[in-house]
Amino acid sequence: MKKVVLFNVGPAIPAELGFLETLANNLWWCWNSDAIELFRRIDPRLWTQTGHNPIVFLNSLPQKKLQALTNDDGFLTHLQQITDRFDAEVLHGRDGKEAVPPRDAVAYFSMEYGIHESVRLYSGGLGCLAGDHLKAASDINTPLVAVGLLYRQGYFQQYLNKDGWQQEAYPENQFHHLPIRKACHADKNQVIISIKLPEGPLKAAIWQLDVGRVPVYLLDTNIPDNPPDLRKITCHLYEGDRKCRLRQELLLGVGGFKALIALGYEPPVCHMNEGHAAFLSLARIGHLVNDLGISLPAALEIMPRTDVFTTHTPVPAGNEAFSVELLRPHLAALHADIAVDPEEVIRWGQSPNSGNGHEFQMTILGLRMAQFCNGVSRLHGVVARKMWTHLWPDKPEDEIPISHITNGVHVSSWLSPDNLALFDRYLGPGWWDNPGTDEILDRIVLIPNEELWRAHELGRSRLVRAARELGEKQYNARNATKAEVAQMRTVLRHDVLTIGFARRFAAYKRANLLLKDPARFEALLTNKDRPIQIIFAGKAHPADDVGKELIRQLVVFAHRPAVRQRIVFLEDYDIQLARYLVQGVDVWLNTPRRPQEASGTSGMKACVNGALHLSCLDGWWDEGYSPDCGWAIGHGEDYENAEYQDAVESQALYNLLENEVAPSFYDRQEGDLSSVWLEMMKMSLRQHLANSPLAA
Ligand SMILES: *Cc1c(COP(=O)(O)O)cnc(C)c1O
Repeated sequence: MKKVVLFNVGPAIPAELGFLETLANNLWWCWNSDAIELFRRIDPRLWTQTGHNPIVFLNSLPQKKLQALTNDDGFLTHLQQITDRFDAEVLHGRDGKEAVPPRDAVAYFSMEYGIHESVRLYSGGLGCLAGDHLKAASDINTPLVAVGLLYRQGYFQQYLNKDGWQQEAYPENQFHHLPIRKACHADKNQVIISIKLPEGPLKAAIWQLDVGRVPVYLLDTNIPDNPPDLRKITCHLYEGDRKCRLRQELLLGVGGFKALIALGYEPPVCHMNEGHAAFLSLARIGHLVNDLGISLPAALEIMPRTDVFTTHTPVPAGNEAFSVELLRPHLAALHADIAVDPEEVIRWGQSPNSGNGHEFQMTILGLRMAQFCNGVSRLHGVVARKMWTHLWPDKPEDEIPISHITNGVHVSSWLSPDNLALFDRYLGPGWWDNPGTDEILDRIVLIPNEELWRAHELGRSRLVRAARELGEKQYNARNATKAEVAQMRTVLRHDVLTIGFARRFAAYKRANLLLKDPARFEALLTNKDRPIQIIFAGKAHPADDVGKELIRQLVVFAHRPAVRQRIVFLEDYDIQLARYLVQGVDVWLNTPRRPQEASGTSGMKACVNGALHLSCLDGWWDEGYSPDCGWAIGHGEDYENAEYQDAVESQALYNLLENEVAPSFYDRQEGDLSSVWLEMMKMSLRQHLANSPLAA
């Protein structure tokens, strides 16, 4: 990866439109529909072609077009409205001047951030949660600064070969296409931090990405100051090479904390989003001792009281561990910076009864470093307390200091434009600020059925169209036959009960549960009076052949002539595809093997758009389910035998689809609308708007 000098060859933005550049450089626009519309209306086709990336979009506009806008009164009025809102919501009415977070803002550390599809610094749920968290913090004006890594390539792009086997591509992130700028000292020089590795210093340049009022500071090691092998450290998200991965996490935690100090922050509280970020605690201890002159015993008292740790999964592969042999020399190199003896740190990352084990676990370090620890749903809290009991041998399980905060979603990032207009109209102007009050929620039943259904059908139609377009493109790229490509152009129907299933293809999520009895599945899809269609999407981890095999099986099934019109697998699940899906499906399906789904959030995104949730009682659904607003697969049983569990739960799922879901959907009286379904939609909306305040 060589460094290239970049020239801006785009058009000059006329002075009257200067705010467009400001807007393009703060991701605030991506959750404000009026701001999105400001870009889109300039040239809707180009907006799509440029991947909803306003920087690329503005650079691609002909000068003539921009000039014409300066005489377009309607556009200028719209521009002024957005300018005023941006000023009030982001700049605190500081009249165009940047609002700087206070020195004592809370710091949030995460390996990934899923904010918008045009900023590929995420892989999935963990990142989307972090992104939603930042947006919510900006909305409610909570002083927060965030820290992450700036990946040259990010996570992989997925495509399938002819046989349905997943392939991975790693396109480069073009930094000049990202809304980032150099984070600078007062003297205007970019902040460069350095951490010690066994073979010498590792340096990182700091960039700033603005998410409304929240700055995200991103570390980049691809700079000439580093030798070539160290420059690669921030190349891939979730790098497979263990040494590189360890260095990424040391960089995030220790380097990230140093960056905040270099930028003038003194965070009173730090949040570790998952174990990857846990090394930040070591940097905090070092800072308290070395810079603030506090004794080590006192630092060890202060630090955990002001650290927060969120654990996100009970699945072992999700809980990062490093070999002690790999870690030890790295801690030795950092000794002066972290002020703690390496052997002591190694003990912090191990279970007390593991003796001198060879594994160092990042989750254990996180749990030890923070007095406030949480799982991400009520059930996950229970599971996590049980899972980590061995760290507190003298405490009973229910006193293990891990509580739970159920995940949430940032509603305005996921709500369809039609639902937004509907809610604005019927829930009253204040719904946005107080979505959970009874007064607002009571108005949901007053939304006329026809209008709710119309808004929902628009979302479904957009999904069908997007699926056809994406499908056609993907089949073309796969060198499919002409007939296959043509078939994708008409796949799915606009009026058929539509189910969405999209998530990482990990074995425990059981994407193939519906394939247990292929004949029965086929019969459900092709039922003459009550057909069902289903859209699948999701990536398998590059090293996970079991997950890739699940994708292949689905693709093979989808080629059966009888079901071709009713089932599609769409490649490269990302935030854009997620938006189409959660805004367009009638039912969101989730089939995890309880209790391995810590929370899950995509179902919540679908539910705020009026979809109904159909899931095993795992993750958030274990506490969210009620029979008047969705369906439960099984009764929350825990099974010893996975094969038996799959057999029982697949039959339960077929039965629900056949006897409850499809009959309710197609129960059309009253001028073609299903009042049963609409009533459930309203109950579900009520529950999810109540439980999804702006704060994620
Ligand atoms: C919301 C979201 C996820 C999270 O999915 P869950 O499996 O429900 O946790 C993953 N990927 C994308 C692109 C998302 O938008």
